[in-house]
Amino acid sequence: MNFEAARAGLIKHLATEIRDKRVLKAMSRVPRERFVPLGERHSAYEDMPLPIGFGQTISQPYIIALMTESLELTGEEKVLEIGSGSGYQSAILAELARLVITVERLPTLAKEAKSLLGSLGYKNIEVHLAEPTLGWPSEAPYDAIIVTAGAPKIPDALLEQLVIGGRLVVPVGSRYEQELYKITKGRKKNVVQSLGGCRFVPLIGEDAWEK
Ligand code: SAH
Repeated sequence: MNFEAARAGLIKHLATEIRDKRVLKAMSRVPRERFVPLGERHSAYEDMPLPIGFGQTISQPYIIALMTESLELTGEEKVLEIGSGSGYQSAILAELARLVITVERLPTLAKEAKSLLGSLGYKNIEVHLAEPTLGWPSEAPYDAIIVTAGAPKIPDALLEQLVIGGRLVVPVGSRYEQELYKITKGRKKNVVQSLGGCRFVPLIGEDAWEK
């Protein structure tokens, strides 16, 4: 299979909805086929989520592009990702930001993502095994935070880890379907925008769903 051609085809499809050229360029540099299980590689450039084991999924490319675009990255930012999963979203963020801190609750996924991102040459990504507290407070505050699992409500713990003016993108809703929110943190009030419906695996732990 010609992955380069398939990747170019996907980017062309995404370009009909996603206006930020930098996001499209970043996605054209990351080999999604490396982040999916061998048996799924033929589908790596279809615009859909794919299983990555342990009941988890690598998100749909369109949703990844939409969430990344809404973080408004310019290259200077320190970004936090909740849910490293395959590491694919982390790689895209690393193409667009200064430093990516990503946390994952499942040890095997964290280990695999770390080794793959290392072998692809990424030096500006730190993969951490998640702690009970949501996020990664020890390196806060972050310029942008992306949550790649569905939360029951906008997590206060993450708003606390964001700079004033920072963007938090998070799916909020039930365990099975959510609405994607972009929250821009203000000094007094936050601005909340909806980016539409989505389906993510549940965010597990403190400030989120029970196992
Ligand atoms: N961004 C990933 C998508 C992974 S799916 C990718 O590009 O492949 C969501 C991931 O969030 C799962 O791997 C799940 O184990 C993880 N997760 C769920 N709750 C979490 C929490 N509280 N902290 C860290 N990771 C969490």
